[in-house]
Amino acid sequence: MALALDSFCRELPKVELHAHLNGSLSRDTMLQLKRFHADSGLADQTNAFFDEFQVGAGDTRKLSDCFQVFSIAHTLTSTPETLALATTLTLQDFQDDGCCYLELRSTPRDTPHMTKVSYIETIIQTIQKSSRHLTMITRLIVSINRNSTCSEIDEITNLAIQYYKNYPDIVVGLEISGDPTVGSFQTFVPALNKARAAGLKISLHCGEVCNPQEVMDMLKFKPDRIGHGICIHPNYGGTDETWAKLCELKIPVEVCLTSNVNTKSSPDYDSHHFKHLYEAEIPVIICTDDKGVFSTSLSQEYRICAETFNLTPSKLARLSLNACQYIFADDTRKMLNDKLLNFINKNAL
Ligand SMILES: [Zn+2]
Repeated sequence: MALALDSFCRELPKVELHAHLNGSLSRDTMLQLKRFHADSGLADQTNAFFDEFQVGAGDTRKLSDCFQVFSIAHTLTSTPETLALATTLTLQDFQDDGCCYLELRSTPRDTPHMTKVSYIETIIQTIQKSSRHLTMITRLIVSINRNSTCSEIDEITNLAIQYYKNYPDIVVGLEISGDPTVGSFQTFVPALNKARAAGLKISLHCGEVCNPQEVMDMLKFKPDRIGHGICIHPNYGGTDETWAKLCELKIPVEVCLTSNVNTKSSPDYDSHHFKHLYEAEIPVIICTDDKGVFSTSLSQEYRICAETFNLTPSKLARLSLNACQYIFADDTRKMLNDKLLNFINKNAL
């Protein structure tokens, strides 16, 4: 008997390629972290605290306001112990949701209790440790925030390269994220070229706001993947030229439906640009972005996608199968591909 869509989406082996650690903390993870911070003064404000962290569909906050919510998570992951706990619990969440491969991303930052080096070390060690009991495979993408200074860009890029060399089985890529209205892409190009020459894969948050010149510069850079890719089609704040360029290059797009709807980057699910990408046969990968902030999960994003765009289970499974082609860990691709094909055969999809 065919599985109900809900269960089908959970059981479908899925790959998550766009998940920010601090935005992915579930309510339960945050409660556990708060126990470590019981004397921080936040303990009595639990409800207000969660209301602020989660950005729902009816929320009046826009994309630019949403970057502030990360400071809430940052206060809870400012020591090596809490960062390790947050990582462990978040990996478990993804596995419990049927994720078989995760590329987690995070920006190394200095805190009163940690340097950037201990930040990245802690995440790497936690991923290694978790791999002993999880079946899900996890890799790390190092993030650089768009508001970084030139010296921070260099510092984080050098860290990413160094850790990629030391842990090639964990660190796979470098990405740029953060408030899209801040900073200029050109500032990052020398660092990105250096990272790419060292062997790291590159993903760029691209077209989150209307900025056709920057979108064009990013596409010409030919990143391995782009995040969101909203303002590329002319109906969505792009131009004929930016859309033609994406169609020519067919750069895979990490699509985050609920994130875009809840931050008002897309008015609703029906008008989401997924439809244009899918019909133009541009590779799309369904992702969550910040499952904690947007109260979602990867299986929920698959279900919403199926319901909104009338995708059959067979088409959904093929979306997941295709996503395997665009993962950054080259050595894992075949295994994931086989896993998906097995699922497709077993369920006669
Ligand atoms: Zn993102």
